[in-house]
Amino acid sequence: MRSVCRSEKKGRRLGFVPTMGALHEGHLSLVRAAKKQSDVVAASIFVNPTQFGPNEDFSQYPRTFERDYELLKNEGVDFLFVPAVSEMYPRGAVTWVTVEGLSDKLDGRSRPGHFRGVTTVVSKLFHIVEPDIAFFGQKDAVQLVLIRRMVRDLNMPVEIVGCPIVRESDGLAMSSRNAYLSAEERKSATILNCTLREIKQRFDPGERDSARLLSAGMEIFQQEPGARLDYLEIVDPETLDPLPAVQGNALVAVAGYVGTTRLVDNL
Ligand code: AMP
Repeated sequence: MRSVCRSEKKGRRLGFVPTMGALHEGHLSLVRAAKKQSDVVAASIFVNPTQFGPNEDFSQYPRTFERDYELLKNEGVDFLFVPAVSEMYPRGAVTWVTVEGLSDKLDGRSRPGHFRGVTTVVSKLFHIVEPDIAFFGQKDAVQLVLIRRMVRDLNMPVEIVGCPIVRESDGLAMSSRNAYLSAEERKSATILNCTLREIKQRFDPGERDSARLLSAGMEIFQQEPGARLDYLEIVDPETLDPLPAVQGNALVAVAGYVGTTRLVDNL
């Protein structure tokens, strides 16, 4: 992959879209952004075992390679990298990239080791593909914060672009994990976005106190018996620390379980 990318690049700007496959419009929006902002586009599909906990869904994670391949080809992706686990993690691999202090917040608190797996695999992919610019979804806002910090702290020569969340018409953020939801769970799943919208509705006319914004959101979330809250927080988008009040930029992030499926959303 590295020699292909190096030799085909020919001085042009290489854009990169890393994914775990089971592609949907959210992923394709990243590819379209990459096509616009770069001359050559590479994508990867790799269900990364090191970002899944021992009781998480690594083995069940949807794998739809044939379809993904067609979708990426139709979007005009130039190179697709689909490594095997043994290729990415040869025996004896013991080196990790950890964004200390951020990797254990929000999703990292509920999923110990998750972000260490993400930042390690993204570093490896960057070293293999050597992109000039890489595209990530705002849907995984905490992940995006960690990747930006990693790239800054380790002087990685890649520009990171965050792309807006693509949603279903009822507001549910698109996710490969939505495929796990039964028809009933699919209805319950909209509660994450309803919770965020309630917070925004209180924020717009002037509420700035985080405790009051969060309790308004919590009240909405609790109306859905089919969902269990993991976290709802208003945090500083750089440090990920809770903000007592919203003065400048703030990230409102929610995670919850619908049945056994863990979903996230944010604004
Ligand atoms: P994944 O395959 O879940 O690892 O996601 C690959 C990339 O697609 C990540 O940068 C995600 O943030 C992004 N992504 C996933 N879902 C969405 C969405 N609904 N809207 C925008 N980007 C997304």
